[in-house]
Formats: sequence, structure tokens, C-alpha cells
Amino acid sequence: MSLEADAAQQVTASAQLFARASAIIPGGVNSPVRAFRSVGGTPRFIASANGCTLVDADGNSYVDLVSSWGPMILGHAHPEVVAAVQRAAAGGLSYGAPTAAEIELAEAIAARVEPVQRVRLVNSGTEATMSAVRLARGFTGRGKVVKFAGCYHGHVDALLADAGSGVATFGRPSSPGVTGAQAGDTVVVPYNDLDAVAAVFAANEGGIACVITEAAAGNMGAIAPEPGFNQGLRALCNAHGALLIMDEVMTGFRVSAAGWYGVDGVPGDLYTFGKVMSGGLPAAAFGGRADVMDHLAPAGPVYQAGTLSGNPVAVAAGLATLRLATPEVYTMLDRNARRLGDMLAGALTAAGVAHRVQYAGNLVSVFFADAPVTDFAAAKAAETWRYPAFFHALLDRGVYAPPSAFEAWFVSAALDEAAFDRIAAALPAAAAAAAETEGTRS
Ligand SMILES: *Cc1c(COP(=O)(O)O)cnc(C)c1O
Repeated sequence: MSLEADAAQQVTASAQLFARASAIIPGGVNSPVRAFRSVGGTPRFIASANGCTLVDADGNSYVDLVSSWGPMILGHAHPEVVAAVQRAAAGGLSYGAPTAAEIELAEAIAARVEPVQRVRLVNSGTEATMSAVRLARGFTGRGKVVKFAGCYHGHVDALLADAGSGVATFGRPSSPGVTGAQAGDTVVVPYNDLDAVAAVFAANEGGIACVITEAAAGNMGAIAPEPGFNQGLRALCNAHGALLIMDEVMTGFRVSAAGWYGVDGVPGDLYTFGKVMSGGLPAAAFGGRADVMDHLAPAGPVYQAGTLSGNPVAVAAGLATLRLATPEVYTMLDRNARRLGDMLAGALTAAGVAHRVQYAGNLVSVFFADAPVTDFAAAKAAETWRYPAFFHALLDRGVYAPPSAFEAWFVSAALDEAAFDRIAAALPAAAAAAAETEGTRS
């Protein structure tokens, strides 16, 4: 960045807000990726959003290709969702007692995802996966959990684990504050590697409570399961009496009406949901087989609770969003994802940048790699150092891409011709910036 541009940045409202935020909020943000650490520069503080457009504190507008990391499939401030939220809020913000609307939301989820027979509402995806893992352990009476490198399931202690030295060994904490004991019951294996999962089962006979996987990986970029992978997990879990937890917090109700289950039809025993199902307000859910879910308190002995769980305002946003998420919306999401992906590929090809545009349903990713990316090791081996220049060239031209090379791009059904025109206008310079940037593999 030139000195002039740097000086200009210092005086933006976003820069001032970021300085103020950094004095009171660790790192200036309430979730790390928002801080732009992996792309550099100043995070844009958002003042408002409508449709596919974000407006920052300086009045700059951006085509939003993050969609709040997934939830906003209808675009921002959809009038019918806003009206539903306003109606609910006017009726009281929280009761700590059951409501009719939470039944409706649970029924709507079960109606879309056939293996889901019971639903418990919680407040975040993290809470959903934490509770699903506890329930799997309580149900099976076993301790160990298998997860995949590069899959993210929220900041649950036991799931903040990295692979140990051998494939079948226990995990190591991936964050300070996670104890060896918490990570040690987690076995971390490469994504799309069924042989590794089979080896873990063989080495831990009778010890594995569950395998948790993103139904299609979206947190190391979009990496779809290879044909037969989810089916293979299903078979291994069946053979060894373990539960299969399909984490659909990202894919659920986004990649199809029934999430990734609607794409590959491989049933999980338990599911976790969030993001789209609460339309941008804080609610999430886990659910699945009735015989397993009925082990939850107060029906069964496995404890789980939440003061704000089933919050009426969040439930109203979720119900309105799901009601509006018609087949036409999913067709539009798929079409927008392909159109975006084709544009990304076209611009990078024209600039001579080696790349793979990958999809997991309508999740889109750009990897600066020359071969398909099927696991976290390959995602990390890509030329991620090209991404900051690519990202900032887009941002400078009014296109808000994810501020990390390892995140999927999220389209909404609200993207219109003007938005695609803006993306098309921005891409040549961004692709050139990606081509010209100098960097080293980290
Ligand atoms: C976002 C996400 C989570 C965590 O959800 P939060 O609401 O951020 O806690 C869990 N799993 C997956 C697959 C996610 O994408």
C-alpha cells in the first residue's frame, strides 16, 4: 500500500472505530476472522445492509459475498423477515418458558431433513456441536471423538484439536486453554481419507462415541466430500456402534432445502444446524434420531439447557427465513454461485494465475492451486499469499469477499445484475493483483 493510501486509511471512520474497538475488545472484534489479520488492512465497520449490499461507516457500499458467513441467503433486511422479527419483539423478547413458535421451527427443520426426528434449539453452532458430542458420549457410554483436520465445528474445547504424530493417536490442543485431556479424547484425521478413519476405529475398538464431520467441508474453503466418503463414514460408524454427527451449521438450509443431506442423502444419527435456520439472529439447533435425542434432559439423563434457547425473536427470524427459502431461492443461489465461480475462474485464467474454483453445492472457493484441493494439507499448500492482494483489490472496488483464503464465498439470492456488473468490473484488476503479488509459502 502506498504511503498516501495508508495515510488516507488512517482517517476513515472504520479506522477510527477499529482503534476505539481495539482498546476495549480484544483485537477489536468479537470473532477473529473479522479483524482482517490474514489479509491485512483495516476491517470495515458496517453501518447497515440491505439486499446484497453492505454499507460501511464511511458510506462506502460493497457487494456482499460473505452473507454474515452464511445465514443471509435471502439478502439483508428482507422486509418479511424484518416484519416477523418486529412482530415477535413487540410481543416480548424472552419468556424462559415454552412457545408455539419453537415447535413450528423444530417441525420445519424435521420436515426438511428426514433423518431428524427430534430437535433441541440452542443459541449458537458451537453450542449445538458441543451438545451433540456430549449426547453421543452419553448415549454410547464411550469417550472418543473422531474429527477431520480443517473441519470447524465451533470453539468447543474437545474440537479444538490437531492431529497427533500418528494417524490413530490422540489429538493435541490447537489453542492454549484447551487441556491435553480435552483434546486427548479427540482423534484428528485427514478429510476425505476413509482408510485413516478405518484405522482409527481398528485401533480404538469399542472406544469411539462418534465421528463428527462437516456434511460438506466449508471451513477450509469449499471442499466437497469425495464420492463415497460420507457413505463410507456411515458404514464404519454402523460397523463399530458409533454415531455419525453431520455438522450442517454451514450447509444446512443453504446448499439445498434439506442442506447437504438433500445433496447426497447419507443419513447422520445427529445433525447440527445454525446460520440460515435463524436468519441472522443467534439461534442454532441439534437433532436426529428419536432414540438418541430422548437421552437428553428432561426426557433422559444427558444434561443440556439454555436460558435463551428457543428465543421468540430468533425463532421468528428463522421461521420467516425458512418459509421464504422456496425452491426458486435455491435455484437462484445455485445459479449465482456458478455465475460467480465462472467469473472468478475467467478473470484468473485471463491473468494467468493458477487456480481452482471449487464448489460444495453453492459454496464457492478460490484456491491458488493447480490441482483439486481435497483436504486441509492441500488447502494449506496452495499459494494463499496471493489472496490478500486479490481481496484488497476487490474491496477497493466495492466487492466484499471473505477476508481469509480459507473461507468459502457465500452468495445470496439477492445478488442482482448491478451486483454482478460490479463484480465483473472489479475482477480484472483483482486477478492482476493476484498475479503480480510477491509472496512466499508460509
Ligand atoms: C459456523 C460453524 C459452526 C459454529 O457456529 P457458531 O454459531 O459460530 O458457534 C459450527 N460448525 C460449522 C460447520 C460452522 O460453519
